[in-house]
Amino acid sequence: MAALKRVCVFCGSAVGNDPAYAEAARELGREVARRGIGLVYGGGAVGLMGIAADAALAAGAEVIGVIPYGLLKREVGHGGGVEMHVVDTMHERKAKMAELSDGFVVLPGGYGTLEEAVEALTWAQLGIQRKGVVFLDVDGFWGPFLGALDHMAGQGFIRPTHRPMAMRAATVGEALDALAGWEPPPGTQVWMRPEQM
Ligand code: AMP
Repeated sequence: MAALKRVCVFCGSAVGNDPAYAEAARELGREVARRGIGLVYGGGAVGLMGIAADAALAAGAEVIGVIPYGLLKREVGHGGGVEMHVVDTMHERKAKMAELSDGFVVLPGGYGTLEEAVEALTWAQLGIQRKGVVFLDVDGFWGPFLGALDHMAGQGFIRPTHRPMAMRAATVGEALDALAGWEPPPGTQVWMRPEQM
């Protein structure tokens, strides 16, 4: 089991309609700080990602942002306290976020969040990385998506051994514990190496 030194958060660039989403982002920021874990995030000041980063910074955590140049120009990236990596492309950003972290927490979000989470799962499935992915199911937000994964597994498109790679947690504490304890499913083969992503 690898030590959880830094955790990467994938989350919305919006805050969503339920205040519980923002509260979960704040709680994640506070809890990583309490556990002495660093936070890697998308570098923006907007939405849940800005809220998680602010809370982590305020509570004294190491916070690292990874943002493509194009987004930095449009948006004020995070100011003081964040170690900011500016990259050229969205692909580089995801690779860098993965390289810098030991596991992924997925908060509520939209297309961008989903794409990042599913790519991390695909990498784990191919053995490109040995890092867990946990969906923080705030007020049941991820229920329909996790149900869709069950359907895909039921129809033979996700292997039964791979379905649990997409973990679910009800609380921030549970999510971080799940990542700290994560092991690849038995029999996971390394089909590709990180430099082949
Ligand atoms: P979504 O779940 O569609 O809100 O997408 C979240 C993703 O939006 C982030 O991971 C980024 O790829 C992207 N994004 C949108 N706006 C920003 C921003 N201002 N700063 C950083 N990332 C952003």
